[in-house]
Amino acid sequence: LTKNEDGTPKYFVSIIEDIASRKQIEEKLNFQLGHDALTLLSSRDITIKTVDTELARAQRYQRPLSVLMIDIDHFKRVNDGYGHQYGDEVLKEIGKVLMASVRACDLAGRYGGEEFLIVLPELSQKDGALLAERILKNVSARKIRLGGKTISVTVSIGVASLSGKHETTDLLIASADEAMYAAKKAGRNKVKLAVG
Ligand code: GH3
Ligand code: MG
Ligand code: MG
Repeated sequence: LTKNEDGTPKYFVSIIEDIASRKQIEEKLNFQLGHDALTLLSSRDITIKTVDTELARAQRYQRPLSVLMIDIDHFKRVNDGYGHQYGDEVLKEIGKVLMASVRACDLAGRYGGEEFLIVLPELSQKDGALLAERILKNVSARKIRLGGKTISVTVSIGVASLSGKHETTDLLIASADEAMYAAKKAGRNKVKLAVG
């Protein structure tokens, strides 16, 4: 070990830094694997896998489970009016609102381009709908700065919950999707519950 004139080791510090930065890189890579790069929400893959796991758990222990399908209203207008890059800014902001609206035991994921899926273990359809209404308010209240302008957007939300009818991940997500479209048809900025 090379020492400085005062006897302290010369390279020791840099070795520790090496290990620390390797660990940081490792953690960063792990995070990136499971998360969407733009919004930092869970990736589509992880989101679907989480529904799989939570569905199995809820069925096994006869517990409630709800999912929310969330789609931004008239998002094309944002892209067309401000440009795709500003559209991305809006997606990031909505991601933050969603993260702040759910608890640590829930999962918020980017399901598609401007579609989000929230997985809510232990939440009945009634509780899922209450949270969806809160998200509706939080999103529309969020002021988003795009260049010099400030805009806000709304979302439409479909709520689906575990029942005898929804026995698979695909069916549960499809029910939430169907309810979300009903919310669009009803005029947007609305929450609709899946039937059944
Ligand atoms: P609706 O109220 O019916 O949902 O209207 P909409 O305009 O939001 O329609 P739709 O959901 O079909 O359109 C989604 C648009 O989102 C189209 C696509 O260009 C845009 N989009 C999807 N992914 C991204 C993305 O990553 N970044 C940006 N900027 N735009 C995206
Ligand atoms: Mg869409
Ligand atoms: Mg949309």
